[in-house]
Amino acid sequence: MKTENNTPQTDCKQCGTCCKKGGPTFHAEDKFLIDKGAVPVKLLFTIREGELAHDNVKGGLTPVPTDLIKIKGKKNSWECILFDEKNNACTIYDYRPLECKALKCWDTREIESVYQNDRLTRNDLLSGIRGLWEMVEDHHSRCSYHKIGSLAKSMAGGKNKIAVNGIIDIIKYDMQVRSLVVEKGSIDPEMVDFLLGRSLPDTIKMFGIKIKQAGGIYKLEP
Ligand code: SF4
Repeated sequence: MKTENNTPQTDCKQCGTCCKKGGPTFHAEDKFLIDKGAVPVKLLFTIREGELAHDNVKGGLTPVPTDLIKIKGKKNSWECILFDEKNNACTIYDYRPLECKALKCWDTREIESVYQNDRLTRNDLLSGIRGLWEMVEDHHSRCSYHKIGSLAKSMAGGKNKIAVNGIIDIIKYDMQVRSLVVEKGSIDPEMVDFLLGRSLPDTIKMFGIKIKQAGGIYKLEP
């Protein structure tokens, strides 16, 4: 990449472009940021195994092989919630995660070398919490994206009612568990997208399905 003077760029110009494109994915060496509270869990969300996500290095959407723990975006945008637009600065600069330190827009070699390595998962953060972890695992298995993908392929434009009802049952279960963890489990609603991933009504469109909900009744439109 060249600067305005046509000389090669060698340092960060703090333009904020990378923070506006989205927050980082966490890696094992970022765990201490969560443990010490530098990045509160309620600012995180999970992209679950099998969900489609943008590959920042190769580009394009691809199903993720394992959980991705990411910093949330601001309302209706991908801009990292920890980016201070007024001052064009990271609000946790000294504690910014590995990918933020490795991402140099003028030379992508460092981010490419760490991007796929040792990604932090919910298992790394929650498996010691009995009861909660079993609930997260059960939800992940019953709301598996592999299962939804296979039902979506069988929908035959909505004619296969078994497949359609199978997807609706999974969506209903996902929504019930989300309500239950907040109402009965006293979980902060802002933590739900970290514990259970993004809600299925928000992600189901990746399978080419539109969902309509009225009065607790879901309808799918292929
Ligand atoms: S954590 Fe900081 S450096 Fe990283 S994307 Fe967010 S605002 Fe930018």
